[in-house]
Amino acid sequence: MPDESTAILTIDLAAIAANYRTLVEQVAPATCAAVVKADAYGLGAAMVAPVLQRAGCRHFFVASVDEGLALRQVLPNVQIFLLNGLPGGAARAVAAGDLVPVLATLDQIEEWRKLCAATQPKPAALQFDTGMSRLGLSQADVIRLATDPRSLQGLPIVHVMSHLACGDEPNHPLNDKQLMLFRSLVERFPWTRVGLGGMKPSFGLAASGGVYLGTDFHFDLARPGIALYGGRPVIGRPNPLRPVVRLQGKILQIRDVDLGMSVGYGATHQFKGPSRLAVIGVGYADGIFRSLGNRGAVFVAGERAPIVGRISMDLMTAEIGHVPIAACRPGDSVDIIGPQQSIDDLADAAGTIGYEVLTALGKRYQRRYLAATGRAA
Ligand SMILES: *Cc1c(COP(=O)(O)O)cnc(C)c1O
Repeated sequence: MPDESTAILTIDLAAIAANYRTLVEQVAPATCAAVVKADAYGLGAAMVAPVLQRAGCRHFFVASVDEGLALRQVLPNVQIFLLNGLPGGAARAVAAGDLVPVLATLDQIEEWRKLCAATQPKPAALQFDTGMSRLGLSQADVIRLATDPRSLQGLPIVHVMSHLACGDEPNHPLNDKQLMLFRSLVERFPWTRVGLGGMKPSFGLAASGGVYLGTDFHFDLARPGIALYGGRPVIGRPNPLRPVVRLQGKILQIRDVDLGMSVGYGATHQFKGPSRLAVIGVGYADGIFRSLGNRGAVFVAGERAPIVGRISMDLMTAEIGHVPIAACRPGDSVDIIGPQQSIDDLADAAGTIGYEVLTALGKRYQRRYLAATGRAA
């Protein structure tokens, strides 16, 4: 039995499945993949990925080889792409795990080509850099590949992708620029003559933001991540996805404070009169950012309670002078993420993004998964 004071992280798997179906509709007739890197954005890939598979997902993206091999244990029959490419020396492990590397350099292409020649042709993907200046073949490398027909010979390229730098900002001029560059690079290749069996690869550009930029950005395969987990896909617009996460801290102690007293390390908050404090058993070691000290809020008995003082490692303090005394007691739960405060609200208060809120969620929580049937798993 978990300690009664342990904070509870509830992950709604039915909401993830519903969000996947929403995204499927949004990108149709294109196909929708799922990005489950970083342990499905901290929510547990081993729990999340099978739910997505049951919802119809057949293409999964992770970052690293280790993540891909772990996911392969869970999902034997789906396509698993490695966004971080092919690390030197990893080709055999990648092939053995039936993972599809998203090749990002000419050296990686050469390494995969050698493996294919030595064993058998194994599918790979390519990433073109179109303006992110992160992973991917440069424009010059792409042109070099396109002008040398032997360069991709014997390499079954099943997918060609690029990544938007500003996909969550619909009016950013870089979106159209990247779209046009991606199209023009893709058109340089005689795709029907390369690859296994003369297959044309699928193309992809859209992450969560790109899904909402219109059909021009969808190509064949969209690959949202944050939207599956209830994050806001587009800045400044209502979020069409269902919330997935609820985080409830427990009140360990309630104390009276008065004029002249302060709270927490550094005594950064002084009380201007009598009030009450709830001491809550979560802190920055649990992923509650220290930047929320004297800035964020939690919800106690439905009331907004500002976080006062600094966040410490295992504790935080919220002012509850305005909450009726009978409405909260030690042992009660407070909502840190929940119906009144989304992951994006909390991120905004902390000066970060919902992605970081999710991937920072700590290991000390009691995790409860709401199964796709609505019952706890
Ligand atoms: C993380 C990532 C995604 C998913 O992005 P979201 O914004 O979470 O939808 C897609 N493609 C690449 C290359 C990524 O690194």
